[in-house]
Parts: sequence; C-alpha cells; structure tokens
Amino acid sequence: QAKQAGGGRLCFFDPAMQQLAVERAALLADLHQAIEADQLRLYYQLQVDGEGRATGFEALVRWQHPQRGMVPPGEFIGLAEESGLIVQMGRWVQETACARLAQWVSDPERCHLTMSVNVSVRQLRQADYVDNLLTMLARTGAPPGRLKLELTESMLVGDAGDIIRKMQQIQAYGIGIALDDFGTGYSSLAYLARLPLEQLKIDRSFVCNIEVDEVDAMIAQTIVSLGKILGLQIVAEGVETQAQWARLVSYGCTGFQGFLFGKPGPDCALPAPEGQASSPAAVCRIGVTGA
Ligand code: C2E
Ligand code: MG
Ligand code: MG
Ligand code: MG
Repeated sequence: QAKQAGGGRLCFFDPAMQQLAVERAALLADLHQAIEADQLRLYYQLQVDGEGRATGFEALVRWQHPQRGMVPPGEFIGLAEESGLIVQMGRWVQETACARLAQWVSDPERCHLTMSVNVSVRQLRQADYVDNLLTMLARTGAPPGRLKLELTESMLVGDAGDIIRKMQQIQAYGIGIALDDFGTGYSSLAYLARLPLEQLKIDRSFVCNIEVDEVDAMIAQTIVSLGKILGLQIVAEGVETQAQWARLVSYGCTGFQGFLFGKPGPDCALPAPEGQASSPAAVCRIGVTGA
C-alpha cells in the first residue's frame, strides 16, 4: 500500500503519528478562522528594573478557542509559522499592542512604559514588513521609541543580509530590537556585535537553574557581562524567586520579567508600591559593588 501511494502523497504508517496529523489539520482549520472570528487575545507581562519598578510589558498572544479554551502560543505559533498564517496573526498582534501603547501616552502613570512584541522570522521576511510596521505606528499613534520588537537568534539562519537590513531600518526609526531567548540558539559573537540591537533577553532555562546549577549561573553571568560590553540592556526572563532576582542583580542585570513580578494577564496591572519594598537591589549593590 505504501508503494502505491507515490505521486507526492504523504503516507503514514504510524497510527499515533496519523492521529497527530489529523489533530494538527483540525487545529489549523480552526486557526484559519481565529482572527476573523475575533478569538485572538493579547496578554501582557510586566517588566521591572532592579528596584521592582515597572518599565514596560511584553505582549503575549493567546487563542480563545470556542471548545479548547485558552490555548497557549506554544501550541499554535509553530502551526501558524508553517502555514504562513503567522503573517496575518503577527499584524493583529502588533496592531493591538501598539493601540495599547498609544493609550499610555496620555496616562502619567504609564507614559514611560515600553511595549515588547514578539516577531517571527516569517513575518520579518515579508518584503513589506517595515512599510506595514510604519503605517501601523502612524495609524495607532504609538510612539516608535517605546516599541520593542523581540526576535530570536534563529532568524539569522539563511539570508541574514535581508533581515539585518530590515533591522537597521527599524532601528533608524527609533524602535528597539531585543534578541529573545538568548543563549539557546546559535548566535555567533561576530554577528552579535554587529546587529543593531538594544536588548538581550536571558532565556528562562538559565534563570530557573541559577541557584542549583553552577554552569547555568555562569552562563547567565557571562550573558550579562557580554551585554554590558556591547552596551546592551539585559532582561532576564522567567524570574520566579527572590533568590534568583538577587543573584541576577548581583551579576549586574538591570531588567527582569517573571512570575515573581506578575503572570501574563489581559490588563497591564502595575505593581503595588508596597510590592517594591522587597527589592534585593539595594542590599546587593552594597554587598557586591560597594557603590
Ligand atoms: P517568550 O517570548 O520567551 O515569552 C516568555 C514566555 O515565558 C511566556 O510564555 C511567558 O508566559 C513565560 N514566562 C514568563 N515568566 C515566567 C516565569 O516566571 N516562569 C515560567 N515558567 N514561565 C514564564 P507564553 O506566553 O506561553 O509564550 C511562549 C512563547 O510563544 C514566547 O516566548 C514567544 O516565543 C511565543 N509568542 C508569544 N506571543 C507571540 C506572538 O505574538 N508572536 C510570536 N511570533 N510569538 C509569540
Ligand atoms: Mg519574547
Ligand atoms: Mg523570551
Ligand atoms: Mg523564552
């Protein structure tokens, strides 16, 4: 039977794999309608400085599926990328996040905050990506200087020249670029120094083991040092405990994001002033640098 199946047709031998393919096909069919059916949602996760003060939010997409409930991006971003739907979805994410960012301009409590948006390589490869971005900024009235785009190292695989040119254009408009999940991909140092970056984000996998694994701790410390040498902001993601926060502060890390400060949610809730009292920053600064 397998032999007869030629002609470019896919043939599944493993019932479990076939089941998975059927599942994915069903999910993809639903995903095609998700945008028009208004099922996408943006959640926002707080980012803070060493004193626990709000510096901004990262926008994280969710899919409010009529039967499956709230679907996390890990379960559909890959599918959206493979199918090309990510382009349309990414536009919705950018537009929605920028509309929110534009609202902050007239709010004295929020006018200093930044908005970070994840962009996948397939979006960035679109010939009209930069034009669309600029049009969208003009339409929403969001200040470019408060927008940050999060890209991953994997985008530099293939025709990096095109991507780097676009990054330079984006930067020229005052939009910041962050390298997300840093340390998990295969960035070469030669590239890193030449990319028009503003920020490195230390991947959560290093942060979560920082207390128990000396190698991960060393990697996190090295990323902070590297970022400082390159003049970049460093944001640690996935900070869950005071101990992790304190250690990162002692390494010189200045930006933080994680459940310790807030889980992603539909509102952009700011930390209560008393929540900042537990900041390790003051203690660590005295202990480590004596400043
Ligand atoms: P990311 O950009 O690295 O986002 C951080 C992820 O870590 C988020 O997962 C966030 O909920 C989670 N996280 C933050 N703090 C903690 C913590 O303290 N502990 C733990 N255990 N997790 C934490 P989420 O929202 O499920 O997003 C997963 C990934 O999906 C994102 O990773 C990003 O790569 C991608 N993604 C999310 N939204 C978009 C989007 O609009 N466009 C694109 N292209 N990708 C997106
Ligand atoms: Mg991100
Ligand atoms: Mg990240
Ligand atoms: Mg990550």
